[in-house]
Amino acid sequence: MNARQFKRFLESVTKLTAGQLEQVRSALASEQTVRASYRAIEAARPCSCRRCGSEKVVRNGVQNGLQRFLCRACGKTFNAATGTPLSRLRDKDQFEAYAQCMRKGYTVRQAAAEVGLSLDKAFRWRHRFLSEVVAHQPKGVTGILEVDETYFRESQKGSRKLTRPPRKRGGKAKGRGRRNKDWIPVLVGRARGQALTADRVLGRLTGVEVTDALKEAVTPGETILCTDGHSAFLHLQRTLGVQTKSFVASYHGPVLDKVYHVQSANHYHERLKSWIQRRLRGVATKYLPNYLAWQRLMSWGKTGVSAEEVIASALGRQVVNT
Ligand SMILES: [Zn+2]
Repeated sequence: MNARQFKRFLESVTKLTAGQLEQVRSALASEQTVRASYRAIEAARPCSCRRCGSEKVVRNGVQNGLQRFLCRACGKTFNAATGTPLSRLRDKDQFEAYAQCMRKGYTVRQAAAEVGLSLDKAFRWRHRFLSEVVAHQPKGVTGILEVDETYFRESQKGSRKLTRPPRKRGGKAKGRGRRNKDWIPVLVGRARGQALTADRVLGRLTGVEVTDALKEAVTPGETILCTDGHSAFLHLQRTLGVQTKSFVASYHGPVLDKVYHVQSANHYHERLKSWIQRRLRGVATKYLPNYLAWQRLMSWGKTGVSAEEVIASALGRQVVNT
């Protein structure tokens, strides 16, 4: 719109009826959401070809609201979402609104109502937004890393066919012990005094699995691992080359060594569990890694990540644990 048209447009505002004014207001709000969505996607703009990695890329028109690029080396075109979990999703103009729901930890129902999506679509978007974030783990933490395990009950929520008999009244009679395969161990590592969080859904709580889950997160010689006395943590000093301190969890007397505890990891577990169980009413075990990733987004910094950062993370840029 040129300056003259815009001036006339502004002048005409005084002639609007109350109803028309309301329509204009809502059109402006939705246009802002749309633009914020595209801006957020393009902020993660590739400076090299998504297909061949060449840096000889030029702008090549706009398609579906997104800047298109042409690679001079391979001749392919692409945009900022190409090759990411978000590439084939329609309605990218709603990403900003959806990302706002993500950063607030909304249920599928809440997000669907807020953005105007079907329940099915809101659910599919959730996991597209989270799949890249699973790998955004901390690397080479120095200082104290509190490591602790927690358990989630195996769940086949949403599945049409159970691979085991259904539980009756929560299945309290049998297999309450946490060694039972009904319980899925989740390992969480929290760096003391830093916002870094490592997490992993384990098959079983064993030394081998714990070592594998933490080997990237530690710096040999510079990390001090703090654990409860579980046998899976016994040999980490040897396998990871880091100092380990453990305490006896069942000991309720005065804490002799005030530095070595896992309270930060425990608090993190509590927040994770109350959100998953009370708000989301449980989640399917197969998606558990995505929910751990989601919790990391929400607990990054003081207020969690912004909507733009939710989108950038979904496109593969590591925002948390950096
Ligand atoms: Zn290329």
